[in-house]
Amino acid sequence: MIYLDYAASTPVDPAVIESMAVAMAAPGNYANPSSTHSEGRYSNELIARAAGQLAELVGTSPDRLIWTSGATESDNLAILGAATYREDRGRHLVSMRTEHKAVTDPFATLAQRGFEVTWLDPDPDGRLGLDKLQSALRDDTQLVSVMHVNNETGIVQDIAGIGELCRERGVLYHVDAAQSCGKLPIDLDALPVDLMSMTAHKFYGPKGIGALYIADRKGVHVDPMLFGGGQQRRLRPGTLPTQQIVGLGETAAIATQRMAQDLEHLRTLRDRFWAGIQDLPGLIVNGSLEHGFPGILNVSAAGVEGESLLLALEPLCVATGSACNSKSQEPSYVLRALGLSDELAQAAIRFSFGRPTTEAEVDTAIALYRGAVTRLRQLAPAA
Ligand SMILES: *Cc1c(COP(=O)(O)O)cnc(C)c1O
Repeated sequence: MIYLDYAASTPVDPAVIESMAVAMAAPGNYANPSSTHSEGRYSNELIARAAGQLAELVGTSPDRLIWTSGATESDNLAILGAATYREDRGRHLVSMRTEHKAVTDPFATLAQRGFEVTWLDPDPDGRLGLDKLQSALRDDTQLVSVMHVNNETGIVQDIAGIGELCRERGVLYHVDAAQSCGKLPIDLDALPVDLMSMTAHKFYGPKGIGALYIADRKGVHVDPMLFGGGQQRRLRPGTLPTQQIVGLGETAAIATQRMAQDLEHLRTLRDRFWAGIQDLPGLIVNGSLEHGFPGILNVSAAGVEGESLLLALEPLCVATGSACNSKSQEPSYVLRALGLSDELAQAAIRFSFGRPTTEAEVDTAIALYRGAVTRLRQLAPAA
């Protein structure tokens, strides 16, 4: 088995597992962080340390971060929370067709509740043209949500440029950074970003923990989605999961150390893989090598059916379209929005590389992909 599905989830770094085990069982660490006794205070200190580690990774201060269960919850809290908080100022919202379901579904829910949502299409290279955004913004626009790195194609959006346009117009800007947090440099205090979603399990941390960044700026606020014990300034109550948070903090600390070297490694692997397959006829890169995060390469082979290709690639763990859509036979809506035909969208394979990926694994993947595409084309010659 060769795992090339790091955009879906990643193995947890052993140092992170160790930090979590200690946080769950060591004397004192397991106390409820809301408790005022010394053990509770200690557990709370572990959480404060983790907040510092995550804040350092993304260039902000710890008090700007709200712990959540992951990027799905952060996206929901940001979008539903900001839209309802600002509802009386206007009910127009803007996002893209290529966003993750955790963003498109909250917007669809808001549309049912009487908000108006403008869905922007990407340019052919997958990026959002700033002129397109400019003309979509209105006086009653309250919120724009455009992700940093796309989970299916790896396309990197110009979040600084998008955020600047939003600031000029007094519109809040939310970024889903599930695929970029810990992998690309992010300096929140310097970026015109108001809300940002993060999740640990996409960068070698545990599942079930993430964060939402809320900028310290007038008018930036979210209404809570949960109600209870009043933790986290009532924005997201519930007993804080100390071990999950400690795990995310450790994950962030490692990422801060390793980011440059990780990026270099991914670039080497992605370029090696592409060099090994690019001479096959009829290959299409879905997205852009130039504007793409190097951990993801999404390719379609004309005339090859996706499900058969996936079977033929058996020892490789890869994704067709996005993992979230792969159980359905529907072609990926993200690839369709990029202008691909149903056939090409269905033939798409997402290869995603990670910290543990070796050049030998990439070479095996090259050989398997070449063999599979060639064989399937011989079986079913293009009409
Ligand atoms: C994985 C992912 C999510 C969902 O994150 P969870 O932490 O699994 O809820 C949201 N957006 C993007 C872009 C993702 O890649």
